[in-house]
Amino acid sequence: MSSGISRRNFFNKTISLSTGALLLKYMPAFGAQKNGIVPMIITSHSNETGQKAMEAGWEILAKGGTALDAVEKAANIIELDPEDTSVGYGGLPNEDGIVQLDSSIMDGKTYNAGAVACLEDIKHPSSVARVVMERTDHVLMVGKGAKDFALKWGFKEENLLTEKARKIWLRWKENMSKNDDWGPPDHLIDKAKEEAYWEGFPGEEFHYGTTNVLAVDMNGDVSGITTTSGLSFKIPGRVGDSPIIGAGLYVDNEVGAAGATGRGEDVIKSLASHYMILRMKDGRTPQQACEDAIKMIIEKYKAIGSDYIPSEKFVAINKQGETGCATTRIGNNPRMSVMTSKGFNKYEGTIKRKL
Ligand code: ASP
Repeated sequence: MSSGISRRNFFNKTISLSTGALLLKYMPAFGAQKNGIVPMIITSHSNETGQKAMEAGWEILAKGGTALDAVEKAANIIELDPEDTSVGYGGLPNEDGIVQLDSSIMDGKTYNAGAVACLEDIKHPSSVARVVMERTDHVLMVGKGAKDFALKWGFKEENLLTEKARKIWLRWKENMSKNDDWGPPDHLIDKAKEEAYWEGFPGEEFHYGTTNVLAVDMNGDVSGITTTSGLSFKIPGRVGDSPIIGAGLYVDNEVGAAGATGRGEDVIKSLASHYMILRMKDGRTPQQACEDAIKMIIEKYKAIGSDYIPSEKFVAINKQGETGCATTRIGNNPRMSVMTSKGFNKYEGTIKRKL
């Protein structure tokens, strides 16, 4: 199997002025680096919000703050982006038009974890997951219980369904079947009028999307968050991989961290993030570990005579500053955002669809 290392392609994006200033300001602090540890924060998001999130997380790391605080700060920024239909506020709703969020957090230093699933009306599921982790003796809280818990802790109840997401959902709902009563009366259906009616509504989408945020701080402690609105139009109550420790996220303070996005059902069955950590423990690089996890899933289906390849994207980091990213999706190579003392980069991973 190709390691993918030769295809590793770090390319510097223009470092924004603010980032440059930030680096100069905090560079001296990096005298504190020890044992080859490379402080770093990454996200599987490669858009502008992803960059903003990395800069905010980095500001914490550069001051000597914890990986835990850095990942929470960065994840919160992505969760708040109303234009992002895959995470937090603005995320696409379930089949009934209700936004249900899943998130997990894991702290390598304390070997502690927290998570929430099917959480409604709270903009920062990753912060609720952190309270579950730090202020209860549980790991996972779901649905109404998770929301009541969040309200007790002072989180605000807010409508998470943006106009954009509501319109995408409505369009999906009306066009889902000809055998229901959504849409105009049969005798009045006019194709041209229908097209005009939907003009201005964002396109119907059925999609995957989540973000992973992973970080190593100056002490060499590792933390991670995975946060998502889950599969669009999912069956109400469905829980994906994101809040399942070992599936959508895993952190090991000796090794690094790994996270997953994509079809959660396969990530749960394979416990892909934990698998990536085990691979790195065995000496594989983060890039190799991501590719190994994809290969493992493809092999499972092959073994039962199926050529099915689920849509997945995996990311991983180790404490020595190496990064990995691989996907099964056809199209452009997957990317993730990376911030270190060298500045902001987009890391390009590999597409892996063969054993
Ligand atoms: N993994 C998420 C889930 O299954 C969705 C995604 O990443 O696209 O809920």
